Amino acid sequence: MSNLPTSTVYGPVNSWRVGRSLGIDLLFTSSICSFRCLYCQLGKIETPTRERRVWVSTEQMLADLEASDWQSADMITFSGSGEPTLALNLGEAIRAVKARTGKPVMVLTNATMLEDPAVRADLRDADRVYCKLDAGDEKTLQLIDRPVEGVTLAGIVNGIKLLKAEYPGYLAIQSMFMPVNKKAIAAFAAILKDIGPAEVQLNTPLRPVPRGWFIAARGNHVREDAPYEAVDLAHLSREEAKDLEAYLRELTGLKIVSVYKDEAA
Ligand code: SF4
Repeated sequence: MSNLPTSTVYGPVNSWRVGRSLGIDLLFTSSICSFRCLYCQLGKIETPTRERRVWVSTEQMLADLEASDWQSADMITFSGSGEPTLALNLGEAIRAVKARTGKPVMVLTNATMLEDPAVRADLRDADRVYCKLDAGDEKTLQLIDRPVEGVTLAGIVNGIKLLKAEYPGYLAIQSMFMPVNKKAIAAFAAILKDIGPAEVQLNTPLRPVPRGWFIAARGNHVREDAPYEAVDLAHLSREEAKDLEAYLRELTGLKIVSVYKDEAA
């Protein structure tokens, strides 16, 4: 199978969070991220960086959007081949997509860039921002998310709080849980309570992770028939996820949902 990119727009595919989601990939030329998460569906981050650049022009993305089935999407999601806030034209692209389609726009971010006021300004026109937060302490962050130099848990949490203070849209936290990050769960709950998001989404790596970078695996979307070599990761069972959900709800008073919610019992 060729790993050459074909379009900056992909899907729509069914998402457990938002229905039919059309993906927009402003990175596209490589897998580009400030994290190298153990569970990353992209398999390998080819370009680990905190540098913001225009990787793909807004014009190219809009041409791909026109050629796509955007009309059937419930949500247009900026995600793709890494961390979308590393695209310097993110704000411009969000505004252009909204103007063209009239559809709600969501950004999935790893929250490593949110202390930058320019990044927060770029997110202002999105209807939803989902911030990744996997760790309750620095050690767990380093272990699971494997950030590039300069990224700390304190910086991430501060960035999310700064965004929350000025962002008018729906701000949720997404967490990928494996047995290892349950160790710092009390500290994690305290951070969640401090941030006070509209919702916390608990996920666990149910899908195998590719061994190398495959653009076909971009985004956080459901993909059943992975056409690449992949490995399984330790994940939470339905019962463990349910217990965690209840525990975090009790400690934080927040709305907590789990990836298992839509599956048949
Ligand atoms: S899962 Fe997301 S944040 Fe983590 S390395 Fe992959 S693209 Fe980056």
